[in-house]
Amino acid sequence: MSQVRLGILALQGAFREHIAMLKRLNVDAVEVRLAAELDDLDGLIIPGGESTSMGLVAERWGLVEPLRQWVHGGKPTWGTCAGMILLAEHATGQKLGGQALIGGLDVTVNRNYFGRQVDSFEADLDVPTLGDTPFHAVFIRAPAITAVAEDVVPLATVASPGDETESVIAAVRNGPILATAFHPELTDDLRWHRYFIQIVNEFKSCSG
Ligand code: GLN
Repeated sequence: MSQVRLGILALQGAFREHIAMLKRLNVDAVEVRLAAELDDLDGLIIPGGESTSMGLVAERWGLVEPLRQWVHGGKPTWGTCAGMILLAEHATGQKLGGQALIGGLDVTVNRNYFGRQVDSFEADLDVPTLGDTPFHAVFIRAPAITAVAEDVVPLATVASPGDETESVIAAVRNGPILATAFHPELTDDLRWHRYFIQIVNEFKSCSG
């Protein structure tokens, strides 16, 4: 695998944990706070935290437009939890009106889908893309994906802990965009980070 350089949006939330995971994989990973810092990156992770706060800081620091250009320009981007909310084209249950801040991923997210039943929980998810071993996922005030456009591929679903008969999408991919409703950076399992690096490599070799 060629050497890739990844940025982690470091405005708020769990960015340090992502960097620690990437360092374990010997990947060059840097914190991103300025638009100019996007320039020499091969991929970007938007971490979990609080999407409203992250959005407000991004607006204040003039990052919203550069981030939109990044994502809409087809650059590999992975949103975890709040990061997934910011990437969604449509969101319900959010304070900032019906429109997400960055967009680019044609899904509808419910911002606090599990909130009414349980704030945080863990679940073993079947993720065929990652192999046979289930992924132990940590959900914290997690969003869920309630609708996807045709070209968006669901990678995992989760049963709602309040109602086991109901299951919703918890991870998707659409080309260079990956989104997970849970927090792989809070586990010891490096498979999602490896998978994102693989996506970054695919797109790096395409763009020369
Ligand atoms: N539901 C939170 C939000 O709206 C996200 C929670 C998380 O990232 N752990 O931003």
